[in-house]
Amino acid sequence: MSAIDDLPPLREVISRHGLSARKSLGQNFLLDLNLTAKIARCAGDLHGSDVLEVGPGPGGLTRGLLAEGARKVVAVEKDRRCIPALEEIARAYEGRLEILEGDALELDLSQHLNPPIRIVSNLPYNVGTELLTRWLDPPEWPPFWTSLTLMFQLEVAQRITAKAGEKHYGRLAVLAGWRTDARIVMKLSPEAFTPAPKVRSAVVTLNCLPEPRYPANPKILRDLVARAFNQRRKMLRASLKGLRPDIEDRLVSAGIKPTDRAETVDIERFCALARSLEKP
Ligand code: SAM
Repeated sequence: MSAIDDLPPLREVISRHGLSARKSLGQNFLLDLNLTAKIARCAGDLHGSDVLEVGPGPGGLTRGLLAEGARKVVAVEKDRRCIPALEEIARAYEGRLEILEGDALELDLSQHLNPPIRIVSNLPYNVGTELLTRWLDPPEWPPFWTSLTLMFQLEVAQRITAKAGEKHYGRLAVLAGWRTDARIVMKLSPEAFTPAPKVRSAVVTLNCLPEPRYPANPKILRDLVARAFNQRRKMLRASLKGLRPDIEDRLVSAGIKPTDRAETVDIERFCALARSLEKP
């Protein structure tokens, strides 16, 4: 396959800048630029979009995003050692790459980009889940982004995209499915990364819906779903008992049997129950 840009191969970049992978920062790098360009394409046509990338590392995915036509990439990296390598990319793609050094969990990132904004990242898994939860639950809907394309370990990807009744269905699937179309778009074996992690990975794309799929108060729905799945093997009349004395009636009015378990209740019925709980 032909090179995606005129910059040096990533192995050379990593050895020249001494970027030995650090476990503490969840560093598993993607070194195949054709693969990173393919991941970039999972986010859709990038022409005319700004892209937020969290954790660019030595810049493999960053180069994929730029080569695939992103109008501008804002890349936030916590590891200072990676910044000079990223600056080389910024010079090659003049005016299209802004590098921010810092912790993505502590920065307000939306102010650096203009809509439409796509978020594309290969993140350490713990940081990824935390950021996903925040991006899915902003103060206002629609949020500042139009799509999220994120790498997760396969099991987490399945938890984000599962449907009611499936093994991995839970809190994350309800929150993701309520306000986005979430799909696994690529699966990767451990060998795609350097060093190879222990588990398989998958890329998930979440396309923002202009309106939530069903009306519900976000805070009530979030609390309800957390409570319901906290004891996922229990019948809902037991796990939700503390919420209201008449919880059984409210379950029935939402189309849910009091003996049902959370894992069988779809998003529509969770939203109906959240609406019922808003009433006195
Ligand atoms: N995107 C690169 C790639 O695909 O090869 C690197 C991926 S590596 C799995 C995760 C990257 O996220 C590392 O470069 C790490 O230093 C960075 N990182 C870890 N925690 C971070 C945080 N809280 N904020 C910003 N970057 C972080």
